[in-house]
Amino acid sequence: MDDSSRDRNKLSGSQFQHSGDPMAVPKRKQSNARTGSRRSHHAKKPRQLTFCPKCSTAVPTHVVCPTCGTYMGRKVVEVTES
Ligand SMILES: [Zn+2]
Repeated sequence: MDDSSRDRNKLSGSQFQHSGDPMAVPKRKQSNARTGSRRSHHAKKPRQLTFCPKCSTAVPTHVVCPTCGTYMGRKVVEVTES
């Protein structure tokens, strides 16, 4: 190790030791009820389905129909059967 790199390490160390105000820390533990009521909106809802106007297959909204390749009544993708 040469002198220049040792100097750089010493500088960064002193930066962390004496750096102004302490971090903000919560005063109390958040209760289980408060955590639970926040997460009451986190449940995942089922995907909204519509029926394709051309082949009437159930398709998620804003998605090209996988059966006929139609979106908004217009052919967008060529569907290849395998
Ligand atoms: Zn379709």
